[in-house]
Amino acid sequence: MLVLAPEFYDEIIAHAQGGLPNEACGLLAGETRGEERLVKGVYGLKNTDESSEHFSMAPQDQFRVISEIRKKGWVLLGNFHSHPSTPARPSAEDIRLAFDPSLSYVIVSLEGPEPVLKSFRILKGLAEEEAVR
Ligand SMILES: [Zn+2]
Repeated sequence: MLVLAPEFYDEIIAHAQGGLPNEACGLLAGETRGEERLVKGVYGLKNTDESSEHFSMAPQDQFRVISEIRKKGWVLLGNFHSHPSTPARPSAEDIRLAFDPSLSYVIVSLEGPEPVLKSFRILKGLAEEEAVR
């Protein structure tokens, strides 16, 4: 289960909305306690694809964030990206590019009047929704 405090939820949504009309993306860091994956930091990054249908994060941005996360004693919990005009579920490309089953893949849909945030674990080409609290 991904545990997301309201302030971090708001931060993800704000980054997603700020990236419109393109997809926005970033990394999530924190701690794991048993089944709970506690988000303690949201790192909004630039979508270097500048596209409304896919995203890439610059390797140097990711390295910078990973080193910050290590300094704080956290672990990388996952990543997030937005879907400006499609539902909050992984696209075929999202599934194809998901290389790490230990990560949470958070997707924010902005297609409706209210944002929808969902988290997924992706293993061997299959996406399974993960509870978010
Ligand atoms: Zn996607």
